Amino acid sequence: MYLCPMMIPKHTVQEVLDASKVEEVVGEYVQLSKRGVNRIGLCPFHNEKTPSFTVSPAKNIYKCFGCGESGSSVDFLMKHEHFSFPQAVRRLAEKYGIHIEEEEQTPEQIAKENEREGLFAVSKFAADFFYKTLNETDSGRAIGHSYFVERGFRQETIDKFQLGYSPEEWDALAVAAQAAGYSIDSLAKAGLVIKKDQGGVYDRFRNRVIFPIHNISGRVLGFGGRILINDKKKPKYVNSPESLIYDKSNVLFGLYLAKNQIIKKDNCYLVEGYTDVVSLFQSGIENVVSSSGTSLTEGQIKLIRRYTPNITILYDGDAAGIKASFRGIDMIVRAGMNVRVVLFPDGEDPDSYAKSHSADELDAFLEKSAKNFICAKLWKP
Ligand SMILES: [Zn+2]
Repeated sequence: MYLCPMMIPKHTVQEVLDASKVEEVVGEYVQLSKRGVNRIGLCPFHNEKTPSFTVSPAKNIYKCFGCGESGSSVDFLMKHEHFSFPQAVRRLAEKYGIHIEEEEQTPEQIAKENEREGLFAVSKFAADFFYKTLNETDSGRAIGHSYFVERGFRQETIDKFQLGYSPEEWDALAVAAQAAGYSIDSLAKAGLVIKKDQGGVYDRFRNRVIFPIHNISGRVLGFGGRILINDKKKPKYVNSPESLIYDKSNVLFGLYLAKNQIIKKDNCYLVEGYTDVVSLFQSGIENVVSSSGTSLTEGQIKLIRRYTPNITILYDGDAAGIKASFRGIDMIVRAGMNVRVVLFPDGEDPDSYAKSHSADELDAFLEKSAKNFICAKLWKP
C-alpha cells in the first residue's frame, strides 16, 4: 500500500492486541525455549550470553531482566523493526487476518508514515517486475532463465528466492513502475534508478539476473544483480545502495528462508555469495545465509545469534577464501559464539560442490569437514 490517508480506530487496535500472541511475534526474531510457564531467550535489545529475556504467553507481554525492555507485541515490533505504531498494528493485523477499517489522517502524518512503506512498496513492485520478466518474457527466458537453469537451479528454487531478470534496456523498470503509479523519487530513494545530471533517470540494474534481498519478515529491501556477459569494464555484481529501508550491515541474504532451519539445526552456515546460498538451499542445506554485498559485520553476527550460537563458515579452498574466512572468525568469537570452518577442496566452492554431489554426500562432507577454527588453521595453512 503506497498512499494510506487513514488512521486505525481504537477498537481495532484493541482487537489486534487481543489476537496477537506475543510468543509467536517475538518467536519470529528470537529463539525461545520453554521455562516453566514462560519462554526465555537472548535479549535482542542488549548484548548477553545467558538469556534474561522473558516472554509470558499468559500475560501476553515480554520483559528483559537485563536491560528492562518490556511491552506488548506492538511494542516489540516498534522497538525491533523501528516501526511506527500504526505500522506495527498493521503488520499484526496482517499476520492474524484482522481487517482494518481506517479513519482519516492528516497529510503530514501520511507523508511521514508512508515514506518507508513507499520504499517497501516500490521494492516489492521491482521484485515482481524482475521475476515476471525472467519467467514470462522472451528475453527473460532466453537470457536470465536459461542462465539459472544452466546453473542447475530448479523452477521451485527460482520461485522460492523470487529470482529475476532485468532486461538490457535503459529504463524498463522506470517506465513500468511509473505506469503503475510509483514516482521517480521513490524509485531513486529505493536505489532502483539513478538520476542523470542532465535530468531523467536510468535503471541501476540492466541486463543482469536479480537476487532480491529480504528482511526477516520476508519484505524486499534491496537487490543484487549479477552480470551475464564477460565484460571486464563492468562489475560482476551490482548491489542496491543503502536506503531508508536497507541497512546492509544488519541484513543477511537468505535469512528469511533459513531462520526456521537455523533454529532447528542449531547452526547457521555462512557462505560468500548469493549463488552459494541458493545452491546449498536447493540441495537441502537450508540453514544457510550470506553477507552478500558487504564483508561480515557485527550487526549480521548479532542477527544470527538470535537464532543460534553456532556458525559454520564455508569458504572456497583458495587463498582469498581462507583469508576471508579468518577475518570473520575473529568477530564471531568476540561476539561469544562458536565458530567452525569448512574449507572446500582446491578448485571447489560451496556452489560447485553442491551441484556435483548428492544432498547426503554434501551433508556428510559438511559434518566431517567442519573444524573448530584453531584446527582449521593447522589443517590447511
Ligand atoms: Zn535486554
